[in-house]
Amino acid sequence: MSTHSPHSTPDSFNEAPLSVNPRAEDAAQSVFIALGSNEGDSTSHLVQARLFLQDISSSPIRASRVYQTEPIGPSDNDFLNAVIRISWNSNPEALLNRLKEQERIQGRPSRYPKWTSRTLDLDIIDFGGLILNNDRLQLPHPAAAERLFVLLPLHDLAPEWYDPVTKKAISELIKKAPEMRIEVGAWQWE
Ligand code: ADP
Ligand code: MG
Repeated sequence: MSTHSPHSTPDSFNEAPLSVNPRAEDAAQSVFIALGSNEGDSTSHLVQARLFLQDISSSPIRASRVYQTEPIGPSDNDFLNAVIRISWNSNPEALLNRLKEQERIQGRPSRYPKWTSRTLDLDIIDFGGLILNNDRLQLPHPAAAERLFVLLPLHDLAPEWYDPVTKKAISELIKKAPEMRIEVGAWQWE
């Protein structure tokens, strides 16, 4: 398991010659990213996000099935949810910046309240088992272990996964998660 440097890495890190300051973060990490959309053309948003994730991954990605789920909060529209595994060569903060940028590109206004409808939400669920807690980033994602719309697609990809904090197995977390309406979506990736 990786350890995390207490010093955050500047965004310009990617442009620096790698030989100057080799660090553990340079090794590709296996990262699980949760995708969610319930506004606009959600299937197109997932397809576009998947292409983006393939683009930034240093090896071929793997994608879960797509699930259709009831919305949390006041929204009326069902969500489409999935999890994609990528390989990431830099640090978690740099990945979060890329994901936030892609959310903006795909039309998510920053003024939207946290819990409302969104064209695209990209959350880092697990970063190679790293445990991290700072203002911008919590790893593993703190709500993942309680959300069936994360756990079921994650189980598609990694039935052996366990929560690095509580060490609970994903199958156990699925059994204990609050019930919600969730089904394998009528629409799936090509
Ligand atoms: P949510 O995903 O909870 O609906 P947002 O997408 O608006 O809400 O995210 C709010 C903030 O959560 C982000 O700006 C980011 O800094 C922070 N955050 C903390 N941990 C994570 C994580 N593991 N993945 C993604 N964002 C995270
Ligand atoms: Mg988010």
